[in-house]
Amino acid sequence: MDQVRTFDAIIVGAGQAGPPLASRLAAAGKTVAFVERSLFGGTCVNTGCTPTKAMVASAYAIHMARRAAEYGVVVPDGISIDMKAVIARREAIVAKSRNGAESSLRADPAITVFTGTAQFVSPKTMLVGDDLLEAEHIFLNVGARALVPNLTGVHDVPYLTNSSLLKLHYVPSHLVIVGGSYIGIEFGQMYRRFGAEVTIIERADRLVSHEDPDVSAAVLDVLQREGVNVRLNAECITLARHEQGVSAGITCPEGDEPTSIGSHVLLAVGRTPNTDDLGLDKAGISTDSRGHISVDDQLCTSVPGVYALGDCNGKGGFTHTAYNDFEIVAGNLLENDQRRVSDRIPCYAMYCDPPLARIGLTEQQVRQSGRPALIATRPMSRVNRAVEKGESLGFMKVLVDAESHHILGASLFGVGCDEAIHCLLDVMYAKAPFTVISRAVHIHPTVSELIPTLLQSLKPLA
Ligand SMILES: Cc1cc2nc3c(=O)[nH]c(=O)nc-3n(C[C@H](O)[C@H](O)[C@H](O)COP(=O)(O)OP(=O)(O)OC[C@H]3O[C@@H](n4cnc5c(N)ncnc54)[C@H](O)[C@@H]3O)c2cc1C
Repeated sequence: MDQVRTFDAIIVGAGQAGPPLASRLAAAGKTVAFVERSLFGGTCVNTGCTPTKAMVASAYAIHMARRAAEYGVVVPDGISIDMKAVIARREAIVAKSRNGAESSLRADPAITVFTGTAQFVSPKTMLVGDDLLEAEHIFLNVGARALVPNLTGVHDVPYLTNSSLLKLHYVPSHLVIVGGSYIGIEFGQMYRRFGAEVTIIERADRLVSHEDPDVSAAVLDVLQREGVNVRLNAECITLARHEQGVSAGITCPEGDEPTSIGSHVLLAVGRTPNTDDLGLDKAGISTDSRGHISVDDQLCTSVPGVYALGDCNGKGGFTHTAYNDFEIVAGNLLENDQRRVSDRIPCYAMYCDPPLARIGLTEQQVRQSGRPALIATRPMSRVNRAVEKGESLGFMKVLVDAESHHILGASLFGVGCDEAIHCLLDVMYAKAPFTVISRAVHIHPTVSELIPTLLQSLKPLA
């Protein structure tokens, strides 16, 4: 082993927080050791948001091509998917992001890039291959990976995860998906549109079960219209090889089929943090029961000087929350700006088509809180822009505090809603009452145009 190499900071993981933090520290005159063991850009760029949204766009294109006649467009019979072209397009988009992230780090003279797995030796030192690195500040941005549930037979079958599914260069004849939440639904609708038979197995009695029941029902309706087979109250407990591919053994209500057989099986039951091989015990860094690194409101771990950002801290689980973690740490350490995780308003989207956009509290959470509230809903079939586009499935729902008139939360499930929701989110950040936006004049014809109208129809939550 070489002598210890001393830096101002060590950053582990080239996900969404590590690279901008490295550049920010370097700009502030600090020396940085940057460690990545795999692909620059991490999950979002390589196996998460970017490749899936690129493929969702291809799936949307073939879906609309099939619907062409509804728009008076004549296309020849025999529309088909060219999976190699879909993947080539996706990989070109991914490569651009990945290379951009890597080259800007390598080009910075204040940043030294190390390739390998970083492990703690003590609270201030980490080992990467033969290199022993030391720094006063250590930033962990190690992300998460697909959780492989402990099902009987799971290791006897060639199961897929969000990463390995991206390596398939063809459309499976029948994709069985274990898990009816964001990742399962995005892949399920996408592969159905590519031409696969798709079965989603979900143990809860509804899809995306932490959303409101009306949202779950609307998502189910969209999937079923497209021919996705959804099995609810169905818990996959075993996997076994089958002559057609894979057989999933299921506990389900009496009378239902206790197996689902497909050519391929995708496990989409959650994510687990990459904290098990970091040697956290050598540094005395605490984790919670799921392996997330415990942090305070400014993302400091139980060891002063060591910070955890992104999916590994369990505070977000999204690209925008990982990036915001960078902003919080940079603000506190370099800009005397005391930003906090608790300043963040929950917000995310599920990129099925139409997209589901969510901010703040659900209706269920508002009801549980017991506070007096107002609610308004509007079907997308009463949004002109959606009707004109021929994409009028879904609905919008917003909840407001009856006393303060502050927006508590919203679920917008419809075309363009992933963008439109930001006018509500920004009013929440402004800590302004809903009347600021209910009196605004928005551009016609847009989905956002109906948000003031939606707010004008608020009624007490019964
Ligand atoms: C299929 C899918 C779709 C998604 N879609 C969306 C979406 O649409 N919108 C959204 O906001 N979020 C989405 N997400 C979630 C999003 O991708 C993650 O929240 C985000 O990428 C987390 O970034 P991160 O910086 O925490 O970690 P990551 O991006 O996972 O980066 C961690 C990096 O650390 C490296 N590493 C780990 N351990 C070590 C070690 N010991 N030594 C050296 N290097 C190490 C890894 O190789 C990796 O490169 C999606 C996720 C998946 C799986």
